[in-house]
Amino acid sequence: MSKPKLFTPGPVDVAPETYAAMAGPAIGHRGADFEGLYASIQPGIRQVIGTSRPVFFSTSSAWGVMEGCIRNLVQKKVLNLCCGAFSDKWYGVAQSCGKEAEKIQVEWGQPIDPEAVRAKLSEGGFDTVTLVHNETSTGVLNPLKEIADIVKSFNDVLLVVDTVSSLSAMPINFDDLGIDVLLAGVQKAIALPPGLAVFVTSDAALERSAKVEDRGYYFDFCEFAKNDAKNNTPSTPAIPHLYALKERVDVMLKEGLANRFSRHEENNKMVHAWAEGHGFGLLPPEGYRSKSLSCFVTPDNLDQSGWIKAVIQKHGFAINGGYGKIKGKTFRISNMGNETSETMQELLDALDAELPAFLS
Ligand SMILES: *Cc1c(COP(=O)(O)O)cnc(C)c1O
Repeated sequence: MSKPKLFTPGPVDVAPETYAAMAGPAIGHRGADFEGLYASIQPGIRQVIGTSRPVFFSTSSAWGVMEGCIRNLVQKKVLNLCCGAFSDKWYGVAQSCGKEAEKIQVEWGQPIDPEAVRAKLSEGGFDTVTLVHNETSTGVLNPLKEIADIVKSFNDVLLVVDTVSSLSAMPINFDDLGIDVLLAGVQKAIALPPGLAVFVTSDAALERSAKVEDRGYYFDFCEFAKNDAKNNTPSTPAIPHLYALKERVDVMLKEGLANRFSRHEENNKMVHAWAEGHGFGLLPPEGYRSKSLSCFVTPDNLDQSGWIKAVIQKHGFAINGGYGKIKGKTFRISNMGNETSETMQELLDALDAELPAFLS
């Protein structure tokens, strides 16, 4: 049976060209073929991230690197900025790594207040801060630059930023922001199948990592840096994913990053306009809304799960019925990756066609 096309905010639909690229030849990873592949991806992916620094490839989902950040960087205490499922979980992960952790917790749907970060860091004792740029579970886009500027004003406090659902969908410039680690899994905004994460580290992050004991091996930043110098990875990489990453990054640059960003913005606006027509309200406040997905509050008179099932069964399109503790109370529509105004319109038409039967 054919599977529905995914308009869920991760994983997202994958282009046939990307799957075709994954079927590239088997090559050994300690040799010129692999080193050539590794090097060939660097200029493009660095452009996407806005950095002149090496981009490391981790054969893991995003959580591997997210946990790695805790293990490589936290010596004293980490401050986790929590505003939804993914950012909240980072606090638990820090504790499960045996690290001292504190959090700023806001209600799901609300953004992180930069001034609250300043106040908390002023208490002292912190050496690392974690931030999810685009909180995929709530559709909140956090004020990254404002938070980065504040964290930078504190000596020896490193800022780690998760851009899983924003990298390549919205402008982000690692070098200008002056952040310490940027990471992303590839199955959301980058529109690859799951199984790979990309990340960049600052000099300060690498220096910290070198001093932290018990940082383990698989996600050791120093190992990544050492191997990168030879265009290689510490352990056997997911070579098919790297073929796919090369293919997608080439497509991104061919489209042009500015065009890619505005395509996401336009498609996101289309979804918002459609929702407004139905009186569906967005969960995040104005000014803090993602441009790669939309999270709506489920109205009381909507049989949401019936509606979503009907759209899957009759039209072959899947949206998401809420994540974590707001499952069933919200629904999310992704416009990230390869979607166009035409494909978004097809989805909205299908949602419209089935809606009346599930409204009371
Ligand atoms: C999906 C997601 C993650 C977790 O990704 P995994 O692939 O499950 O490791 C982390 N952060 C954000 C913002 C996400 O959307």
